Amino acid sequence: MTWKHFKHVLPAAASLIAIAIAPMPAQALSNTAQVPVLYYHSHQAGEAGAPCSYANTAAIALEQDLRTIHAAGFTVVPLYWIAEWARGLRDGSTLPAKVVAISFDDGVDYDWFDWAHPYCGPLKSFRRILQEFKASTPGLPWYSPHAASFVIASPVARREMSYATGLPMSDGWWAEAQSSGLIEIYNHSADHDNSHITGSFWDGDLQTWIPVMGAPGMDNFYRMTTDAQAYTEVVSAAAFIRGRTGAWPDLFAYPNGRGAPGSYIHTWMLGNANRHGTLAAFCGDDAYVSRNSPQYCMPRFGHPSAWPNIWSLQTILLGSGQ
Ligand SMILES: [Zn+2]
Repeated sequence: MTWKHFKHVLPAAASLIAIAIAPMPAQALSNTAQVPVLYYHSHQAGEAGAPCSYANTAAIALEQDLRTIHAAGFTVVPLYWIAEWARGLRDGSTLPAKVVAISFDDGVDYDWFDWAHPYCGPLKSFRRILQEFKASTPGLPWYSPHAASFVIASPVARREMSYATGLPMSDGWWAEAQSSGLIEIYNHSADHDNSHITGSFWDGDLQTWIPVMGAPGMDNFYRMTTDAQAYTEVVSAAAFIRGRTGAWPDLFAYPNGRGAPGSYIHTWMLGNANRHGTLAAFCGDDAYVSRNSPQYCMPRFGHPSAWPNIWSLQTILLGSGQ
């Protein structure tokens, strides 16, 4: 175990105590394993005329999925550990035999705060769902469950997105999440190139025009063409997030997963590790992470498209071969 693990989950002293009293896992993750990395959007919910259900409401799905994952013998581990393992920087012997990682995209406030939804009724925040699962499930390791929340950095981009969608996207909860032991904050770019941002706006915090690649936004990093755009979307965004959380967000998730090998942004990530300080980046693709995954395009499974019901989640878990 290195210092890096500790700072990513709990304050060091608490972690040392927790490790000392925690039983060692009887088995280890095979280094040839495939690992499901799941992602959810807390703002995904039913709407008028569409009853709120597992298939259309992330909070309903996540709460059931934690139980399904546990019943199948899997442990939810920090995403950072899976990134380390996939890169060969962590041995499977430091992980349970069957593992899943969970991530959240876009950083809408419902990751952290409950939602009085107009059609679904009260929806639990992802934080509450993780907390309640931990409190009600005996025998979980000290680090589990845990999730990575990929947030949009630019306050101006978040303001414009909130104005267009009605969804709150503040950053006042990031520091508390970062130190919660439940959710860590990572980088989902400066502005997501978000298509709700139709005009051009100056962001004094990030010192850039938003959208970075020009108005209107198109939610498409494949239109990126310059080093300056990539630097702003990844490095300036990370610096802003660090200013809020105190930790450099060293995982990145491409908006809509668009960071495939061969794209400008993917090539830039490969060639500029010393500038962006990012251990791994995540695409979509509905596939497993393994040690053969591209470092800067590790796949994830997205709810609800990849699993609209618990049976298809069970298929994903079993299909990993763990
Ligand atoms: Zn997104």
